Parts: sequence; C-alpha cells; structure tokens
Amino acid sequence: MKTIIIGGGFAGLSAAAQLAQKGYNVSIIEKNLQIGGRARQFSSQDFVFDMGPSWYWMPDVFEKFFNQFNKSTSDYFDLVKLDPGFQMIFNDHKTISIPSSYTKLEELFEQIEPGSSNKLKKFMNEAKFKYDFSMDSLIYEPGISFNELFKIDIFKNLVKLQVFSSYKKHVAKYFKDKKIRTLLEFPVLFLGTAPKETPALYSLMAYSGFVQGTYYPMGGFHKVISGMARLCKELGVKIYTNEDVQKIHIHNNKAYQIETQTQTYASDIIVASADYHHIENKLLESQYRNYSEKYWNKKVFSPSCLLFYLGINKKLKKLIHHNLFFDADIEKHIKDIYTDKNWPENPLFYACCPSKTDPTVALEGKENLFLLIPISPGSEDNDHLREKYFKLMIKRLEKYCGENIMESIIYKKSYCVNDFKTDYNAYKGNAYGLANTLFQTANFKPSIINKNVSNLYYTGQLTVPGPGVPPSLISGQVVAKLIAEKHKIK
Ligand SMILES: Cc1cc2nc3c(=O)[nH]c(=O)nc-3n(C[C@H](O)[C@H](O)[C@H](O)COP(=O)(O)OP(=O)(O)OC[C@H]3O[C@@H](n4cnc5c(N)ncnc54)[C@H](O)[C@@H]3O)c2cc1C
Repeated sequence: MKTIIIGGGFAGLSAAAQLAQKGYNVSIIEKNLQIGGRARQFSSQDFVFDMGPSWYWMPDVFEKFFNQFNKSTSDYFDLVKLDPGFQMIFNDHKTISIPSSYTKLEELFEQIEPGSSNKLKKFMNEAKFKYDFSMDSLIYEPGISFNELFKIDIFKNLVKLQVFSSYKKHVAKYFKDKKIRTLLEFPVLFLGTAPKETPALYSLMAYSGFVQGTYYPMGGFHKVISGMARLCKELGVKIYTNEDVQKIHIHNNKAYQIETQTQTYASDIIVASADYHHIENKLLESQYRNYSEKYWNKKVFSPSCLLFYLGINKKLKKLIHHNLFFDADIEKHIKDIYTDKNWPENPLFYACCPSKTDPTVALEGKENLFLLIPISPGSEDNDHLREKYFKLMIKRLEKYCGENIMESIIYKKSYCVNDFKTDYNAYKGNAYGLANTLFQTANFKPSIINKNVSNLYYTGQLTVPGPGVPPSLISGQVVAKLIAEKHKIK
C-alpha cells in the first residue's frame, strides 16, 4: 500500500520507519532541502549549529524506538551523559549546577534546604510512578475514544497521577526554598505553559531531567535525525526533499493523491506530520477539515522563541553546556508572554554551549553558542526587536561571565516567529506546538484521525501525545499502529 508521509521531522520519520517495517510502501515528502524539521542543522565558517532541540531527556523512549528494529541508539550515534546536567543562574548571580548522580543531588538539596533530601525522595518516587504509568500505557494511546482511559486504569489511578492539581502547588507542598522551587518548576516550561496551569501529572518531566539525567548525542541533536533517516532508508523508505505539498486530492472521502510544486504522488494512505493547522487550512478543502479557524484561535499554544546562533572567537569559562538564566522574575516573564501576549520586558533566557562537550561543533579555542528567549506565539517580529533582545542577552551574559563577549562574536544568525512560519508553516510561528494544559492533554488533543477522510491521519507535536522530541517519536509510532489496524496489508 502506497503511504505518503507529509513532512520529515521526528514524527514523520518515526511513522515512516514503523510503517515500512510493517510492509507499507512509504515515501516521505519534505518541503525543505534538509530533513529534520525543527531539528535541522547548519554549518557556517567554523561552527555546526543544531537549529532546535538540545535537551535529550527520556533516553528510554529513544532506546525503545530503535529497539523495535533490533537496533540500538548506539548503532546510529554516541550518547554522553552530561555532568553537571545543567546550571541555573539566579539574580544574585548564584549558580546551582545539577549533578548527574542522584546521591549528589540529594546532598545538594540538603545544603540548600535542610531536610529537603527526604522530601525530594518522596517527590521523585511519585514522579517515577507517573512517568512509568504514562510510558507504559497513557502516552501510547491514540486518544480517539474515552474507552482507552478505562482500559488503562487511569480512573483507578487518578489520585496518584494528580491530574487535577496544579504543578506549582505540588512543588510548593514539598519545598520552601525559592531556588529549589524554581529548579523543579523549570522542566514543565518545556510543556509550553505556566507551572500553575500545568497538571501535577507532569512532575514526570522533573523525574526525567533530575533522575534519568541530561544526555547529548555527539555531533549534535541532528545525529538522531540522520540516524533515523538511515534506518528509514535501510527499511526501504524513499525520501524526497525540496517538495512542498500544496494540495491533498480527495474523491469519495478518500485521499488519492498529493500535489507538490513539481509533481503528483499517488497514495492509498496519507500521514500528515507537518503543522496540523497548515494541513487543514492550506491543503484540504473546508468540508474535509476536522476543525474550524475558531477552534485553533481558542487553543493555548506553546511559546515561539527568539534564537541566536553565535560563533565566539574564544572560550567562555563560566558557561557549561546548558545554562538557564533565571536571573529575572519568572512570574513576570510568564505573565508577559502567556497572559499579556507581549514581548517579555525582562526575559529569562537559555544559553546552550555544546562546544563544552563536543569538539566537532566548533574549532579549538572557539565556542558554539545558542541563545533562546521564549516569546508569545504570533508576536511581532522585526530586525529592530531581534537586535534589542540580542543586546540585552549579551549584556547579561557579559555581566555573568565577567568578560566582553560582543567583540568576540565572529558568526551571528537570528531565527524567530517569521522564520518558523516560512520554514515550517507553523501556526502563529509556534515553536513547540500546543501547550499541555489539562484540557489539551490525551483525548483532548487535536485528533490523530481525519473524521471526514477515511485514509488521512495526523502525527507530530500538535496531536497526541504532544510537544517535544520523545512525544513526537511516540506520535509516529501511535499513528503507525492505528494504520496497521485499520488498513491491513493483504
Ligand atoms: C528552538 C526549539 C528548541 C527545542 N528544544 C527541544 C529540546 O531541547 N528537547 C525536546 O525534546 N524538544 C525540543 N523542541 C521541540 C521539538 O523539536 C519538536 O517537538 C519536534 O521536533 C517536532 O517534531 P515534528 O515532527 O512534530 O514537527 P517538525 O519538526 O516541524 O516536522 C514537520 C515537517 O513538516 C514539514 N512541512 C511543513 N509543511 C510542509 C508541506 N506543505 N509539505 C511538505 N513538508 C512540510 C516541515 O518542513 C518539517 O520538516 C524544540 C523545538 C524548537 C523549535
């Protein structure tokens, strides 16, 4: 059966590999020259930059993905565990570094808040239960029927999963110290919403970040993409790049062909992994869409971001691989971008310096630096704003590092809302899809199936299970399983 996957990011590649293994004749059609979607990579002068993801969390999800093909992550890339995993910089310029050993983490907590190591144990035991429960069942469900939730005993475990309480309150119940609270609140910022709006279920993220630890694929995050592309090719998947899908042709409620700017591709099944809103609004006629524009307008989107890829002509001693500049008011940043939907007045930002770990991403003596500010999706984007925030970040970096950085910048490229729209057809230029609020979790996500077209499916960060690389990998697996059940190969 001819199966077309629209988009070659993590979800598209994952679905493609699964379906090819099950015997489907799979082609990936990707609009950009390079596959990888938000996880593309580019080289310039003496530097190699990952364009998107940099935090390799939930390592078991990646391993499990490759194991299904009797392979391991180590067949495709070398993974190192970072120690420290990351550091957080506070407004008094005090820094907390998270050790990779759990025993050392307990010692660190004890030093900051006496008595907190026992609380941490309890907090992480609960978080581990949620992680295991989610990974064993919840996260692999297609979210198309509420019966799934009965099947996996979610109602029996509702109290333990803490679906209805707020994550912020959950953290506050355990810890008094403000810095500890901020440290533990940070992982759910990946889910695209404020800790007080996030269900306490998501302490599972803290379990991954603090107990499982932070990993790095040598050569950069894109190594995971190139590994998956190699696996796809080994399984017979054909990959076409620079092919922008412009229309899905439908007859008798069946999609029979897609049209790109150069040609048409016949299909028995279509899996759309590009941004959901774009597929529905640009590639389908209105009678075939699952959702209206009003529906999308009401959804809570994760932030977009302003990014800078910088090449620095010297080493920056005070930075480590992952640095979180929480030296501004977190509540104010959250209010600015989620409630007021403005550019943050005094933003928190993230500085990633992979050249601390990986000599292949910068020449000796130089630093590869990636800066990120989360901003509201749909924010105004122009050169003036980008430059204003660039100067602001460099100033704060220089203050923390105690040295001039501006004059050592030998490569600089920015990326923001307009680029997300142009490169990925991203709704409002979102970076991470939909926020994981309670009513945008599991069965409440945009559906993985098209209700009006019998052979059209969706995958990726805008449907189940949600944003982030591990969920996108899982999303591809979930859709492939569903297709194998509904469209059996004779
Ligand atoms: C800056 C940034 C940092 C991030 N950091 C992390 C992190 O540290 N850890 C983590 O786990 N996650 C992180 N994420 C999130 C993670 O990268 C995404 O959730 C994940 O990559 C999404 O994969 P996807 O396949 O759903 O979508 P995408 O990667 O967007 O793939 C969709 C593909 O569809 C293609 N496409 C779009 N329209 C068309 C069309 N008309 N025709 C053909 N193809 C089309 C796009 O070009 C793209 O290649 C980050 C994201 C960003 C942007």
